[in-house]
Amino acid sequence: MAVNLLDFDLEGLTAFCDSLGEKRFRAVQLFRWIHQKGEADFERMSDLARALRGKLAGQAVVQGLPVLSEQASADGTVKWLFDVGAGNAVETVFIPEDDRGTLCVSSQAGCAVGCRFCSTGHQGFSRNLTTGEILAQLWHAEHQLRRRLGTTERVVSNVVMMGMGEPLQNYAALVPALRVMLDDHGYGLSRRRVTVSTSGVVPMIDRLRDDCPVALAVSLHAPTDALRDDLVPLNRKYPIAELLAACQRYLDAAPRDFVTFEYCMLDDVNDGDAEARELLRLVGDHGPVGRVPCKFNLIPFNPFPASGLTRSPAARVQAFAAVLSDGGVVTTVRKTRGDDIDAACGQLAGEVQDRTSARERLQRPVIPVRAAAHEHLPARAGTTERTR
Ligand code: SAH
Ligand code: SF4
Repeated sequence: MAVNLLDFDLEGLTAFCDSLGEKRFRAVQLFRWIHQKGEADFERMSDLARALRGKLAGQAVVQGLPVLSEQASADGTVKWLFDVGAGNAVETVFIPEDDRGTLCVSSQAGCAVGCRFCSTGHQGFSRNLTTGEILAQLWHAEHQLRRRLGTTERVVSNVVMMGMGEPLQNYAALVPALRVMLDDHGYGLSRRRVTVSTSGVVPMIDRLRDDCPVALAVSLHAPTDALRDDLVPLNRKYPIAELLAACQRYLDAAPRDFVTFEYCMLDDVNDGDAEARELLRLVGDHGPVGRVPCKFNLIPFNPFPASGLTRSPAARVQAFAAVLSDGGVVTTVRKTRGDDIDAACGQLAGEVQDRTSARERLQRPVIPVRAAAHEHLPARAGTTERTR
């Protein structure tokens, strides 16, 4: 079977070229054709020797993913649904802004973590994506958008691993994909512009620090283990104090000097002032591991029927943000993009089969609902972030 060259980082491609009797600089040329020019046809790689083109055609392919659908939102957001076989699909979303273009990339078909507020989590886990399948999302988006915009300039300036799946549960495929994103002969993105978002796979946070430190976002969603155990089941394995300690260790090598904590705002579940104050304590000098340099990114929950959860009112989100900001922690509220095409967080790949049975879903633990009524504080300005 032909080898898919999208599966290789530059080191891997060099080894492959070596096996064909070719020198490293040939691998660099080939890598640039694939990732910088978006070329899949070896015959068109004009500066490669004819003999090499022939060898490549016999043994290798540059194989993207079949596109099942593409939707463009009124606000410029583009969402692709890619076929990954056996009835599975993954989604990729491009979010254009004035000063950047962010691509939200999937790492798995489904997800095994099973967070209560996430529709991917409710679908269950199908399989890990390969390095080639992760990169095919960027390769397709970058070059298709360039062709459409009639430019040879870079379109995707930032990648966030915030699509479907838990990237740190697909570590072996993730790291070579990140390397291609960062490689100057590949997409040449700076480490600060590539973000891995994780629900908190502690040992893999440590490995990422050693192998390929990029910006880190951690999906926190709760200030106590009792609540987080219920919202993010992985917390039962890696509780909050261990997760915070891993964040601190990560910062020793990270390209940014803070971790971003994502916090999905769920009405009457995790959105009270008391929870905000508890978060301040957690990341402050008197928290379980001492101070954790961080920012908070509050995500208004994107509802889906099976969740049984609702979005916090906007005024509640602002009040929660105000408690954190007043406590000295930079806090942004994520603006939802692509609402008209269901491209918002947690709504991805709604079309994919639900692999958990209705019975299993009913058996999940019930979230404790806070008894206290909301205090409705005035909304505050200045806490809106422009990324999704
Ligand atoms: N598995 C990784 C990355 C993918 S999810 C993680 O959990 O971090 C990307 C972000 O979207 C996470 O912060 C996740 O908690 C959030 N998210 C998931 N479902 C959501 C929903 N329905 N509404 C709002 N945010 C959601
Ligand atoms: Fe998986 Fe992230 Fe969704 Fe949780 S929020 S189920 S870790 S994709």
